[in-house]
Amino acid sequence: MKTIILNGKKVSCTVKRSAKSSAIWLKMEDENGLVVILPKGRKSTIIPRILKQNKDWVLKMIKLREEKLKSALPSLENSKVIVYRGRKVNIKVKNVACPKPKVRLINNSIKVVMPKNSEENLSDIVTNWLKERALLFFSRRVEYFAGKLNVKFGTISIKDQKTRWGSLSSKGNLSFNWRLLFAPPEVLDYVVAHEVCHFKHYDHSDRFWRLLKKIIPNYEKYREWLQENGVLLKM
Ligand SMILES: [Zn+2]
Repeated sequence: MKTIILNGKKVSCTVKRSAKSSAIWLKMEDENGLVVILPKGRKSTIIPRILKQNKDWVLKMIKLREEKLKSALPSLENSKVIVYRGRKVNIKVKNVACPKPKVRLINNSIKVVMPKNSEENLSDIVTNWLKERALLFFSRRVEYFAGKLNVKFGTISIKDQKTRWGSLSSKGNLSFNWRLLFAPPEVLDYVVAHEVCHFKHYDHSDRFWRLLKKIIPNYEKYREWLQENGVLLKM
């Protein structure tokens, strides 16, 4: 990661190397932001100059990406509608005299009962509730897929990982990103099955993908969904 200042704005980029390319390329990726692709052997000290030369394009693309991210789902701060398990649900808030907040999902609404004059933030309350639900869903689905493959797993935890959906430690402990609760259930299943398959093959070899296909025949669809929409879930 390199950072330079352009027009008073901090601009960071990821540097990638390409053996195939003989020219320097700039591109904007949803996931990684600005990416500079350097031909093999080219020194990265050239990057500030390249970015300055292409300043207008770079700043324009950064602005577009920021706008795209801002308008993306689901931001709990400014909307009372979120996407939960792939469908839109309203968040309905009621202030009553009660000791602590309560959250329940009823049909297409997440009903939040908040103590009167509560200092607690609605976004925090809903996020905590989502994390609890996430642990429940992930635990159930891990049990299901682990049963299918006959593997023994360790602990399951929920994380706020920025770059990963799920991971498996060498001790057999699994962790998952709670934001997958915004995705359709099939996508969550794909991520769980993916990690459980790593118990059998700790790599992304052909054998690994073949095994995954046996459990989730159309996993490619969900993998693509994550590649396309993943950035929205990370808000
Ligand atoms: Zn993997």
